[in-house]
Amino acid sequence: MNGTRTIKDMSRGELAQWLQERGEPSYRLDQLEGWLYRQDLGSFLDMTNLPRAFREILSREFCLFSLEEVAREEARDGTTKFLFSALDGERVESVLIPDRDRLTLCVSTQVGCRMGCRFCLTGCTGFKRDLTRGEILDQVLLVRAAVRKQGRELTNVVFMGMGEPLDNYDESLAAFRILVSDKGLGFSHRKVTLSTVGLVPQMGRLADENLDLTLALSLNATDEETRSFLMPINRRYPLAQVMAALRGYPLPPRKRFTLEYVVLKGVNHSSLDARRLARLVKGLRVKVNLIPFNPFPGAEFERPSEREVLEFQAHLRQRGLSAFIRQSRGLEISAACGLLRWKKGPDSWALIDRSGRF
Ligand code: SAH
Ligand code: SF4
Repeated sequence: MNGTRTIKDMSRGELAQWLQERGEPSYRLDQLEGWLYRQDLGSFLDMTNLPRAFREILSREFCLFSLEEVAREEARDGTTKFLFSALDGERVESVLIPDRDRLTLCVSTQVGCRMGCRFCLTGCTGFKRDLTRGEILDQVLLVRAAVRKQGRELTNVVFMGMGEPLDNYDESLAAFRILVSDKGLGFSHRKVTLSTVGLVPQMGRLADENLDLTLALSLNATDEETRSFLMPINRRYPLAQVMAALRGYPLPPRKRFTLEYVVLKGVNHSSLDARRLARLVKGLRVKVNLIPFNPFPGAEFERPSEREVLEFQAHLRQRGLSAFIRQSRGLEISAACGLLRWKKGPDSWALIDRSGRF
């Protein structure tokens, strides 16, 4: 019988103390972490270089995984959505995106999202709870084990699934640190990207941590009014402050910020938007990813035509910006940007009332 504490939710310090209290030698911590993050384990009993009695204590005291895979769906383009169940029954989704020599995993950081962006199904279905560091890491560990069985390796991780990672700052950052640590999963900093809606205080905090974390900002509009309409959080942290926070963020040499921009038909892709966008980012090293809106039942926006998106891209390029069109992958299995949700089945989609928020 497995214990109920999930071992990956303990910090390194807590784990070290737990080992010390049991009189274990100090090298045990490294051994244990090597097993937890670098091997694909099924059970504590598989940790073969640890004494059997100790492995049994671990199994009695702790849960090895905080998530369990319950479903997997693969789209025609190879994009695969993983559905996990947490110990309390909450559902967590991750999306695996193969792209040439890259294999990117998009992880969730919350069940639902508090930010309520109008164009995002996750935002429209409300907030349930934060994920723990162990739950964020388990998405990577379980998918990594699955792809390794096929002889492949994950190359990139993006915090762009359900939830706003900076609204769950401590757990997202703890997971990030383990992802990029040599003692953890060993990803290069360049291969892990965190996307934020623009929470100004947390962006400042992140800047002070000197993490070399690749940061993406969901811009989505070029004026305060439109952005506040689309993203209620803009009323608390207006665009001007968000851009100032971005300018204050230490960008490593030769790196660029990614600005994500959901293109909503007739809303945010005029030539005036292109001009304002260029002005907003003047002097900043950025690339703009244009994401044509992915519609969902009950959505109040439409997907722009290909021509409209190309035109907007051309306007941006004329102003010297590098702008790319990102076709969301896995549309038919609802794995595309903004379509992850925590409720089961289309019948239970409940759109929240946004009045009075922020
Ligand atoms: N909360 C974070 C990260 C997750 S959302 C953030 O907002 O940045 C990941 C991206 O999907 C965001 O850039 C968001 O703007 C985009 N997105 C949300 N809903 C979308 C939709 N319906 N169609 C296309 N992109 C969408
Ligand atoms: Fe949350 Fe990002 Fe969706 Fe906005 S776009 S509701 S911040 S997940």
